[in-house]
Amino acid sequence: MVNYNISLIKGDGIGVEIVDEAVKVLDAVGKKFDIQFNYKEYLMGGAAIDATGDPLPQETVDGVLASDACLFGAIGGPKWDNLPREKRPESGLLKFRKSMGVFANLRPAVVYDELVDASSLKPEVIRGVDIMVVRELIGGIYFGEPKGKDETKGWNTMVYTVPEIERIAHVAFKLAMKRDKRVCSVDKANVLDVSQLWRDTVIKISSQYPEVELSHMYVDNCAMQLIANPRQFDVILTGNIFGDILSDEASMLSGSIGLLPSASTGEKTAVYEPIHGSAPDIAGQGIANPIATISSASMMLRYSLDEEKAADAIDAAIKKAMSEGYRTGDLSAYDCKQKVNCSQMGDIIASFI
Ligand code: NAD
Repeated sequence: MVNYNISLIKGDGIGVEIVDEAVKVLDAVGKKFDIQFNYKEYLMGGAAIDATGDPLPQETVDGVLASDACLFGAIGGPKWDNLPREKRPESGLLKFRKSMGVFANLRPAVVYDELVDASSLKPEVIRGVDIMVVRELIGGIYFGEPKGKDETKGWNTMVYTVPEIERIAHVAFKLAMKRDKRVCSVDKANVLDVSQLWRDTVIKISSQYPEVELSHMYVDNCAMQLIANPRQFDVILTGNIFGDILSDEASMLSGSIGLLPSASTGEKTAVYEPIHGSAPDIAGQGIANPIATISSASMMLRYSLDEEKAADAIDAAIKKAMSEGYRTGDLSAYDCKQKVNCSQMGDIIASFI
């Protein structure tokens, strides 16, 4: 039997509910494929502030780095919104990503056939959409110096170095090789010098992947094209802030933010998490959709643990739950045969494994 050490960070709000469901499903695939998952829980965000006064305790950093991979729920909530910025849950998350060295954020946006009506776009526009957004995660304007504010102005700086762009470009091209072999690099090279460096560097790296077709798009046009004709995209490669915005936009193609997983990978470790936040408006009610987190667990099996068959089994079980009409509240208006809560959805997907 193969053994993996998985660190779990449930976080705040619905994070606590959805991670439990992903563990349920992991245990089901573990049983089927003879895999033993050893879990260890760590604190981050509001829960960590309450317990230790620090949104990112050192024990969490050390524990996650020592594990094979990390499954993470979400952090944040109104309870901690009035703390100074550097003491808030969100600053713990930014520091966490930086300490893990997870520079590549992979966000698939896939439209399930059964849910084409859940999208705000017409079925004929979104049917068959299968996009992978590759977002640079630990550079760019969210981290650049100088930054600050006084009474009369505020400022942040968008900086990228050539090695930072090269390593994220390699991730995108390698992924494209396993998909439809197309990369669209998104920037604002018509206005920003940093984007011109991004574009020049991506072009240079593309020569190492002659089979992959590279195109470029300005971010404002990309925002429009994602709505107008999303099927044109295979892999979208972009920087931190543009990727943050475009991947949320892409997520809505699928109908609910509760469906979409993500992987943040780097040289030291990888963190798998839903793209949504802690949803304080529905936290504690047991009604959150756990599929984004269960799907993140599938990405963990595929990208960190090389357990392709187990990952395929989870993806197939999610699809079956969708096609048989099980829906949590966020999707209950669409082809719903049985409305279920968070824990029931976890049970159903685990039983389909
Ligand atoms: P959010 O993603 O938490 O919620 C947005 C909306 O989507 C809400 O109406 C929520 O109920 C719904 N939603 C989200 N996930 C859902 C799910 N699994 N099932 C059903 N409905 C779901 O974003 P927000 O409201 O802007 O932020 C809430 C808190 O989360 C804030 O404190 C924010 O900083 C934090 N946040 C954390 C992360 C993270 O931990 N990675 C990411 C984004 C936001």
